[in-house]
Amino acid sequence: MPDATGPGSLSALRLANRQRLLLALTPGQQISQAELARLTGLAPATISGLVRDLVDEGQLLVRQGVANGRRSRLVERAPTRQRYGIGIDLGRTHVRVVAGVEPGEVLADAAAVLTDGLTPDTVVAAIGKLTAQVCDEAGLRTGQVTGIAVGVPAPVDAVTGVVTETAILPSLVGFPLRDEVSALLGRPVVVENDANLGALALARRAGAPRSVVFVKVGSGIGAGVAVAGQLLRGDFGSAGEIGHLALDPGLSVVCRCGRRGCLETVGSAESVRTALSSALQHDLSLAEVLGLIGDGHPVAVHVLEDAGELLGRGLGWLAMILNPAEIALGGPLIAAGDAWLRPVRQGFRRAVLPGVAARTGIIISPLGEATEAAGALIAGLSAAD
Ligand SMILES: [Zn+2]
Repeated sequence: MPDATGPGSLSALRLANRQRLLLALTPGQQISQAELARLTGLAPATISGLVRDLVDEGQLLVRQGVANGRRSRLVERAPTRQRYGIGIDLGRTHVRVVAGVEPGEVLADAAAVLTDGLTPDTVVAAIGKLTAQVCDEAGLRTGQVTGIAVGVPAPVDAVTGVVTETAILPSLVGFPLRDEVSALLGRPVVVENDANLGALALARRAGAPRSVVFVKVGSGIGAGVAVAGQLLRGDFGSAGEIGHLALDPGLSVVCRCGRRGCLETVGSAESVRTALSSALQHDLSLAEVLGLIGDGHPVAVHVLEDAGELLGRGLGWLAMILNPAEIALGGPLIAAGDAWLRPVRQGFRRAVLPGVAARTGIIISPLGEATEAAGALIAGLSAAD
């Protein structure tokens, strides 16, 4: 008598059960696993195993939800050829990871502050932890992720994925970031400049103008330029490094690049923090600086206005060369809102021809703090097979 529990019989039974489960799910409908068991007549444990396999294959999605008044795992058919990606944004003190679906919809978002600073070890550990967290929240398994991109606040060689400018991100220069993240997550990875990714996210919005510049104002200042939805990187990956425009070579502050008068020494978030710390004779954190600005502290507001005007002047130089329709600002100072935007616009007006001033939109990025990570998601999905 043939063995009814042999591997051939089991797989045939399993195949039949899969078909029953899939037939019970109408596209667009979300139902709980308990309900699936009732509809198919299969045991709950069998349903769990089948759902796990089908999620791995990308045929089903599982989300947390409510069914019959109770929190449950809701199952639905995955739209056909749906592709999922992970976008990672590295700052000098933070890591942000988003999980999402093409063409770039964010499903889950998580961030962590790197209290020990940005080193290869802290970066890899944080990426692993946050990726697991967002995949869990989005109901994704890492096996379903097809595309991953990482944004870094430095110029990047687009071919090798290596940070190219030793003065800007010294702790990661020479570190094979792309290959290490790829080994960690088991998928191909793209590494890209973070400001470029911000520009990509903004350029792919519905109704975006033809040319968009995203300016990341953090410890440094970098601009990403997108024309007709495509990034302008330059031959060596350093297009848009406006933080090192020598705005005024007579300035006494020496930049970390070794030169004097760079825009980032007078217009970055870090320059606002150091200037205000010096004025108030107390070493302030950026959060404290933003708190004082929010409270309307007159010294803090004055320091921010000075920095904003100088930033606006630097953006004016950029606009006189590129003539973008829109310049969107990102980085921590966006929390200051109009108190920052107003002086930036004023400095810009003074640096450009009146027609350029009248027609260039200078705004705070509508995607807020997640702009760069949203761009990384798009870049990861675009690079996937
Ligand atoms: Zn510099």
